[in-house]
Amino acid sequence: MVPTWLQKLLILQDRDERCGNIERQLANIPADIRKEEAEIAKLQNQLKEQESDLKHKEAQRLEVEGEVSDAEAAVVKYKTQQMQVKKNEEYQALESEIVGLQDKISGLEDRELALLEEIDLRQGQLEKAREEIGNQIHTLETHIELLQRNRESFAADLEEAKEALAACEPEIDENVLQQYDYVKRQVKRPPVVVALEDGRCKGCHLKVSGDVESMARKGRELVRCDSCGRILYYDR
Ligand SMILES: [Zn+2]
Repeated sequence: MVPTWLQKLLILQDRDERCGNIERQLANIPADIRKEEAEIAKLQNQLKEQESDLKHKEAQRLEVEGEVSDAEAAVVKYKTQQMQVKKNEEYQALESEIVGLQDKISGLEDRELALLEEIDLRQGQLEKAREEIGNQIHTLETHIELLQRNRESFAADLEEAKEALAACEPEIDENVLQQYDYVKRQVKRPPVVVALEDGRCKGCHLKVSGDVESMARKGRELVRCDSCGRILYYDR
């Protein structure tokens, strides 16, 4: 049997650890939310890049279309001039201009066609990306909502856990409580109160001295591991 005063200390430790666990979970939530938000921003950027890429191609296509119209207008102009010239060499000079322009138009039309195919392809890719990225963003947003709900419920749990901890504090001797707080700061990670088993501290797993062991067995006063400093109890 563990003496009553140590049993009470173990209850306090249990409630204290529960507070610590909830606090740790709460502390992680803002970073988790920021991570998901950053992921959403990254996905939205991907989509924007694809959209601006498509707009760029569309602008290129319009430019080529404009060049075709200009060249076609020039052909019409030269053909009209051809009807008005008298000399054969002037007629031939205009003819070679026209042939040159027609070549240019045919090249531009090839380019426009290639651009149209490219635009078509990218349009398809963009639609697919909108759907996929939209789904991914939805999943991330759902997770953020869950994290926010968790934050609320953890905050409520913490409130309750702190009340439970405060409720058992008056049951414990002031001096014992002070030592508990002191050891808690020293060991940095729980537990603070540990069992002594086969002469070993269950916190650091090292053998304690004979004096410490016999004091722990008696269970009359607070005794600490001579290696790690944790408070020991003996359960016979
Ligand atoms: Zn120890």
